Amino acid sequence: MRASDPAVGVIAATASACASLDALAGVVHGCVACPELAALRTSVVVGDFPYGARLLLVGEGPGATEDEVGRPFVGKGGQLLDALLAEAGLDRAQVAVANVVKCRPPGNRTPTPAEARRCTTWLDRQLALAAPSLVVTLGLTALRWASGSGVRLRDARGVVRAWRGTRLLSTYHPSAALRFGPAGEPMAMLRADLLTAAGALS
Ligand code: URA
Repeated sequence: MRASDPAVGVIAATASACASLDALAGVVHGCVACPELAALRTSVVVGDFPYGARLLLVGEGPGATEDEVGRPFVGKGGQLLDALLAEAGLDRAQVAVANVVKCRPPGNRTPTPAEARRCTTWLDRQLALAAPSLVVTLGLTALRWASGSGVRLRDARGVVRAWRGTRLLSTYHPSAALRFGPAGEPMAMLRADLLTAAGALS
């Protein structure tokens, strides 16, 4: 059995004391729970939470561009995401976007389980405060936050299901779509799943 991490309890107590997304953002900017990430970051990428957003997208963690700019999905993957959202009739400016971790893992490595556990304690509170009517996870790391470690993306994707008092749809990460190219399965599935998301919101 894994030993419990005292940092998670501290984050949970701090997060639950935040009554608004703005208050939470203020606190998260000072988070140093993951020493390696805190030492190397330029920004804490808290996420975009436009007022009243009905859709929340959750990715893995900031890349180099996001770390520099301080906002999620503003690099190449973000440009693709914005284009596919627009194709589906969804305006990025009205969509909430966050990540499993808010600080860039060095070399864009996958967040460790301990980093993901700590940081998703902030994310869980953002979810409760934002109360979206649909959450879309992008890629495996975000799927695992939502659905646990045993789930495979290929099996879970594309279906809207009831989840934590709201609804969940899981799909591929834009970086997988870029890696496999325009004719690859991840691009086709991401495009189709964002259309499904738009349909579920209409
Ligand atoms: N990849 C992610 O998972 N999130 C970002 O914000 C950028 C790239």
